[in-house]
Amino acid sequence: MAAMRDSSIDCQRRIPLLTAVNATSQVHLIVGSDPLAATRCTKSLDAGARPILICPSETKLPSTLAERVEAGRVQWIQREFQDIDLSTLGRDEVDYVVDAVFVTLDRTNPLSRHISNLCRRLRIPVNVADAPELCSFTLLSTYSDGPLHIGVTTSGKGGSLASRIRREIASFLPSGLGEAVGNLGILRKRIWEEDAIENEADKDHFEDDSDDSTAQKHTFNTLVICEYWPLRQLASVTLSDVEKMLAAYGADKCPVTSGKGAGQLSKKGKIILAGSGPGHPDLLTRATYHAIKSADLILSDKLVPAAVLDLIPRRTEVHIARKFPGNADKAQEELLVLASEGLSAGRTVLRLKQGDPYLYGRGAEEFSFFRRKGYEPIVLPGITSALSAPLFADIPATHRGVADQVLICTGTGRHGAAPSPPGYISTQTVVFLMALHRLQSLIESMTVHPVDDKGEPTIPRVLWPKDTPCAVVERASCADQRVIRSTLEHVCSAVQEEGSRPPGLLVVGKSCEVLHQTDQKWVVEDGFKALDGLNNDMNLDTITALGGIQDA
Ligand code: SAH
Repeated sequence: MAAMRDSSIDCQRRIPLLTAVNATSQVHLIVGSDPLAATRCTKSLDAGARPILICPSETKLPSTLAERVEAGRVQWIQREFQDIDLSTLGRDEVDYVVDAVFVTLDRTNPLSRHISNLCRRLRIPVNVADAPELCSFTLLSTYSDGPLHIGVTTSGKGGSLASRIRREIASFLPSGLGEAVGNLGILRKRIWEEDAIENEADKDHFEDDSDDSTAQKHTFNTLVICEYWPLRQLASVTLSDVEKMLAAYGADKCPVTSGKGAGQLSKKGKIILAGSGPGHPDLLTRATYHAIKSADLILSDKLVPAAVLDLIPRRTEVHIARKFPGNADKAQEELLVLASEGLSAGRTVLRLKQGDPYLYGRGAEEFSFFRRKGYEPIVLPGITSALSAPLFADIPATHRGVADQVLICTGTGRHGAAPSPPGYISTQTVVFLMALHRLQSLIESMTVHPVDDKGEPTIPRVLWPKDTPCAVVERASCADQRVIRSTLEHVCSAVQEEGSRPPGLLVVGKSCEVLHQTDQKWVVEDGFKALDGLNNDMNLDTITALGGIQDA
């Protein structure tokens, strides 16, 4: 009994021999026809092997597998498995014995055990799905990035667990690591070659020199880079860095990564397009916060509030767009020039945008611009004012039985033109950005049929009832946030009387009266307290600093 327990513990402790098999041109037999058989075929093809599928002709193959058979990438032998297949379908250079067998039949199917036994006798690696006891090898859940491959196995204890662990491990790796592994491979090879030439020359002089200097130098250099550099730094090694390291190494035969070599690496510039949220610094994402703290150069939109700008470290260079009516394009151009200069100098440039960068933020235009320059931007979302301003005004953008859809639109089209307003949908919440400066004409266009020069109605559209509730939300999430609740009929008079406090937006729809109803023509609410109860340490300094939001 004791002996049995010992042997089972022993079994658990045993470590499988994990290997990376070069399967180029190998013949893999796949016995089965389910989606797993399709996955096995894909794996074989990815590995450069030739998959042969064996299952009867009346089988309905999964569509991806059928397509591959159709395309001639997978050979389908349309019949039941025969023992002879194992030693006749393989490559001629290995006497027609197949290189591996994957069985995806039901684990209770006696054929699975039969194939497994035959394979073991012929020493053909065999894998039977969901039957570890019938496998001579199991597949790993793999992550691949260029020449870098990571495999995870739970020794048959759970495939989805293995893939979860694999995803988790991969998420910790810095981007670009695969490419860097390739580049470091080149470096290693070149140093090896260089040292080998030198060693050859040395051999002529010191015939009996037993010191393995080539190996030592090579080992040392590889060790310094691979062991001591942070992974993120390793991941940024480019081919031109490799050239520089080699030049430094060739010049004085010093370790390539110490002193000169390491110090002179060309850092490739990095561009981050990040949203800074509606205004309050607590509404920044952690990603944008970290970007603010680590950027070398920050180029900010004018709308980004002072409280967010206050987070920028003093050493960091900052430029704020000089946008004012009629100068928007020029200001944008100016920022892009500054960004390009920063990137060429290898700096990390942060383009800080108000709200979310892809919602009326010209984010994608800038993305394309930087991509054309050879820099793929990192884009970080921000909390958009379009959804957070209604929330901070107690307006649920959707509400069961009241509003089942949200439309975000602009009140200002290209070159200042007025876009045509959306037609009335009783269950829709509409949020208009950049609209308050032409509120009157916007409301008119929503509530009155447009007419041409002769007074004839032009484009017919469903008009919004004048008693539709609406709200103007200004400087949402800032200390001086203001909400004016009204109806389409009275909102213009309200804004005229109360004055404007940009930036602000208009919310229209029945959702505006879910949490607040009034009989008055309009109601004004001043101040922002939504985050007060959250953090007692969020002192007055933070709140006061919020007063500094830039005007639109
Ligand atoms: N990308 C931004 C929108 C830029 S367009 C976002 O996702 O929020 C600029 C418009 O956004 C302003 O004209 C105004 O309508 C709206 N806006 C921005 N910040 C706001 C705020 N704090 N409160 C209310 N509206 C705001």
